[in-house]
Amino acid sequence: MDCEEVVKKLYFYLDHEILTEEERREFEEHLEKCRQCCQKFQFEQQLWRLIRENGLMESIPDTFLNRIENVIARF
Ligand SMILES: [Zn+2]
Repeated sequence: MDCEEVVKKLYFYLDHEILTEEERREFEEHLEKCRQCCQKFQFEQQLWRLIRENGLMESIPDTFLNRIENVIARF
């Protein structure tokens, strides 16, 4: 799995159940080797947790999510 694929599957990973066991394993292996993706993942994970815990998922405007994605893309 390369960086591009990891980034694409980041949300699938965080959302659970969507990735196969094999994919999850490859995903985790990549994170261990790749510092860039690891940082990106940790950032997303925190954001994800924050959104979930506060039940913000439905109240976040698309523009805000787009802005976050832009920030992440620049990592
Ligand atoms: Zn990577």
